[in-house]
Amino acid sequence: MSDLKLVGKQYQNHKSVVHIGSEKIGAKDICLIAGPCAVESEEQLDAIAKGLSELGVKFIRGGAYKPRTSPYAFQGLKKEGLKMLKNASQKYGVKIVTEVLDTTLIEEVYPYADILQVGSRNAKNYAFLKELGKIDKPILLKRGMSSTVQEWLLAAEYILMGGNNQVILCERGIRTFDTSVRNTMDIAAIPLVKELSHLPVIADPSQGTGKRSLVTPMSLAAIAAGADGLMIEVHNEPEEALSDGFQSMYLNTMGEMIESLRAQAQHSGRSLNLTKEEISA
Ligand code: PEP
Ligand code: MN
Repeated sequence: MSDLKLVGKQYQNHKSVVHIGSEKIGAKDICLIAGPCAVESEEQLDAIAKGLSELGVKFIRGGAYKPRTSPYAFQGLKKEGLKMLKNASQKYGVKIVTEVLDTTLIEEVYPYADILQVGSRNAKNYAFLKELGKIDKPILLKRGMSSTVQEWLLAAEYILMGGNNQVILCERGIRTFDTSVRNTMDIAAIPLVKELSHLPVIADPSQGTGKRSLVTPMSLAAIAAGADGLMIEVHNEPEEALSDGFQSMYLNTMGEMIESLRAQAQHSGRSLNLTKEEISA
């Protein structure tokens, strides 16, 4: 682990906290990032952002540029999608998490994103990671689908090396021999990363399982394992979704899900970072 010069615990013993305006990731509260896999229309995003913000969710996710396995699958609304995210952010007072697909798009995505997501497929794109080290906004770094924990942490090291230390690690499942789930959610990686690194780590059980019914159980497991946050795909009409509908939670079940996450968070000595909770506290 000697090459973990900046992300390693030996470099910094206390936990890093990533600041996004007045919000924090990596502090005591567990953050919830939720929203559609892809931004599909003004109406779709508005319905989801409205519903989630009413539940107190402060971070909305949504891909405007989508890395799809098939070049014929929906690739995202691109700039138009970014503008829709900005509108939702202003209308509902939420922060935006959206993917930046490659170096040429950093400049375009930067003004629209509060956190720039780096997808699993880019987790070994070292030239790209170096460029992300030069910017001054937080990076959500997904684990590569075939990256070891060491390779994942070294990917983060590339970003920190450039001067950007606002990195949030995201476990999103890895490829294994078992094809009964889309990916194998590596829950053990969460406490392991916390042993090795000071960076916050969150979990994405939507990509991590590929199956809606497994998202709540794996979210609870991730909180129990010490995750600093969750990224959950949510859709108002999953059957109609242009991307990842089968693993998206129904918007109208999110209130119930949040209650179970809240109970698990409290059990772990933490709480959920939701606006509602602050108001009722
Ligand atoms: C996503 O979050 O929709 C996504 C494509 O994630 P990943 O890069 O983990 O596959
Ligand atoms: Mn997705």
